[in-house]
Amino acid sequence: MTRDERRAALEQIANEVRACSACRLAEGRTRAVPGEGDPDTEVVFVGEGPGFNEDREGRPFVGRAGGLLVRLLASVGWRREDVFITNVVKCRPPDNRDPEPDEIAACAPFLRRQLQVLDPAVVVTLGRHSMATFMPGARIGQVHGTTRPADPATGAADALVFAMYHPAAALRTPALEHESLEDIARVPGVLQRSRDRRAGAAPGAEPAGPPEPGVHDPVPAPAAQPAEASAPATPAEPPATADGASQLTLF
Ligand code: SF4
Repeated sequence: MTRDERRAALEQIANEVRACSACRLAEGRTRAVPGEGDPDTEVVFVGEGPGFNEDREGRPFVGRAGGLLVRLLASVGWRREDVFITNVVKCRPPDNRDPEPDEIAACAPFLRRQLQVLDPAVVVTLGRHSMATFMPGARIGQVHGTTRPADPATGAADALVFAMYHPAAALRTPALEHESLEDIARVPGVLQRSRDRRAGAAPGAEPAGPPEPGVHDPVPAPAAQPAEASAPATPAEPPATADGASQLTLF
């Protein structure tokens, strides 16, 4: 699929999301939030659902939690437009309550189709509802910062899943923000491992089952990252590929 074909396919899904009334969340939304980002990206971030600001703007992660996500990305030299950002439910739950299982199930085909189009190397889950979609039965306190192969039934045919806390939770709890900075520092290494797996360079490198509770990804944090990386960094300009798509830089 070419970049233009991917972009068109994602826009088709987005139009269907904007017209969707398949669950009760359609009743209270101002704008549906399909997701956005680079159609050629290798990394997809999946949150839980739109909040107040996202519902007004129709874009994901534009409030305070989005600001933290941008800072987390900047800490590894990435920009939000280099990745794709979406949610498990595309319409805001009332009063920012958790999405219900039937709402997540109703919306799941949209996320699955987005992942089929994007074919990412890495899916980063943000928060426990997103994690539960890709790591059923896992507990966020035990599996954040760890990877496992994605179930192709999710739409991600050949990806590693990496779990993180939701940025909104990290904003509420400074310790979680610190852990989130440590977790995201592992993501470029996970991307490299996934690239190697997809190229067939490291067959069998990933465990078939879930990770041991509390065992974090063994990929070390990039040495170039400063320990006090909580301040926004100036991201490096990623090199462009022949068709203009950005290539995520590995540090
Ligand atoms: S949350 Fe998903 S399934 Fe429910 S109305 Fe919105 S787009 Fe449709």
